[in-house]
Amino acid sequence: MNEPITEFTSKLPKLSDNQKKVLKLLIEAARLIVPLYKKQENHRFEGANFYPHDATREEITKAAATNFEILSPYSVVERKGKELIAIPYHLKYAEFLEPIADKLLKAASITDNKDFAKRLEFQANALLNGTYDEATIYWMKMRPYILDINIGPVERYNDKLFFTKTSYQAWVGVMDGERTARVLNFKNIIHTARRKTLMPSEKVDFYEKVQIRVDDLLIFSGLISRTMFLGVNLPNDTNLMEKYGSEITVFKQSIDYRVKTEVLPAFSKVFSSSFQKEFDYEDIRWGTLYFTILHELGHTYLRYRNSERNLEDLFPIIDELSAYVLGMKLAGFLLLKDVLTQKQLESIMVAFTSRCFELVLNESNNKSKIHYTIGGAIFVNFLFETEAIREKEGISWPNFTKMFVSLDQLATILERILSQGRREDAEAFIKKYGDMKVLQRFNI
Ligand SMILES: [Zn+2]
Repeated sequence: MNEPITEFTSKLPKLSDNQKKVLKLLIEAARLIVPLYKKQENHRFEGANFYPHDATREEITKAAATNFEILSPYSVVERKGKELIAIPYHLKYAEFLEPIADKLLKAASITDNKDFAKRLEFQANALLNGTYDEATIYWMKMRPYILDINIGPVERYNDKLFFTKTSYQAWVGVMDGERTARVLNFKNIIHTARRKTLMPSEKVDFYEKVQIRVDDLLIFSGLISRTMFLGVNLPNDTNLMEKYGSEITVFKQSIDYRVKTEVLPAFSKVFSSSFQKEFDYEDIRWGTLYFTILHELGHTYLRYRNSERNLEDLFPIIDELSAYVLGMKLAGFLLLKDVLTQKQLESIMVAFTSRCFELVLNESNNKSKIHYTIGGAIFVNFLFETEAIREKEGISWPNFTKMFVSLDQLATILERILSQGRREDAEAFIKKYGDMKVLQRFNI
C-alpha cells in the first residue's frame, strides 16, 4: 500500500507572514502522523492492530465487561499472560507523540492569534495526556480561525470488529471565506425551515451551535489520507456535540480529486448516454460539493443517543447513508425557497448516485470505505426497487418527482432504524438492499 499521506498544492488566500510560519509548523506536525498511523493499520485483521490478532469478539466483549478500558476508543488491547489488558494510546505511542506535540507548541508560541494558540496547546496536551474531550470543547467554543488543524485519533472506520478504536490522522487547511459565507447561508435556510417542522417540545438549540467552513487543503495524513473524506463533522461523541456543538469542514481539494477520479468515470459508465447529455462537468462538480455539504448538515439532525449502542458495528452503515439521504431531502427546503433550482437538485442526485456506483463497482479498492460502499448499494437497489430509476442502455430517471418521493421514503426508513431500531433490524435491512454483486453487472 502507498504511504498514508497526501499533500496538496492549493491556491491559498493571502496570508500574513506570521500565518505562513504557523502553517509550516502545522504541516510538519501533520506529516509526523504517518508512522504512528502505520502502527495501527492492518487490513488483514478485522480488528486491525487494535486488538491481539488471535482474540475473538467474544473474548474481547467478555474482558470489557470487567475492564471498561478494553473498549475505550483510545487504547490498544494486548495480551498479558491469560488476560487482555488495555494500554492508553498516549502511553503506548508516547515516542511518536512527543515530537508532534513539540511542533504544535512551537506553532502556539509564535501565532499572533491568542485563541488559536490556546487551541494548539489543548491539542498538544490531548496527544500527550489523553485529554481529548478538553481539546474538543475548547475547539467548539472558539471562533473559527482562518488556519485549521485537526490532529489525533478521531475516526473509527479501521476497527471493523467493534467500530470503537480510533485511528490517528491529521489535516491542515485554510478557510475559503467566500464559499464559507455562501454555505452558511444554505445552513441558515435549512435550519429555519427545519425548525418549522419540529414540535415545540423538541430540542433545537443544538443546531444553532453548528459551525461550518469550506477549506483549501494543504495536507491529509493517516486515516483521512486513505479515506480522502470530502468533508467531516466533528466531534463524533454525541454528548459533546449536543453540549458544545459541532464543526463541519468541507475540503475543496478532495472534492475536485474525487470528481475527476471517481464520480465522473462512474457517471460516464452507468448513466445512459441521452441522460448524460443533460449534465456537464461543472454540474457534477457542483453536485458533489453540495451533496457533501448536505451530508454533513444531515448528520447534525441524526444524532440519536442510543443508536450507536443499539446498532453496534452496523451503526456507521446506516448513519452515513441516512446523512446523505436526509441531506438531499433537506435540499427540498432550498428548492422551496428558490435558492436551488430543480436542475441543481438533480445534479446533486446524479453526482451522489454516481458516487454510490463508483464505490460498489470498485469495492475491492475501497476497504477503508466499506460502510459507505454498502450504503451506496442500498441506495441504488432501493431506487431500482421503487422504480425511481430504470435501466435501458444505462440507467436514468424518467422524472424527478419519483426520485424525490423514493428518497423521502428511504430517509424515513433509515431514520426509524437509527432512532428506534436494533441491530437485527439494521441487519435485515442491509441484507435486503445491500447486495453489491447484483450491481456489479455494470462493471463492463
Ligand atoms: Zn458522514
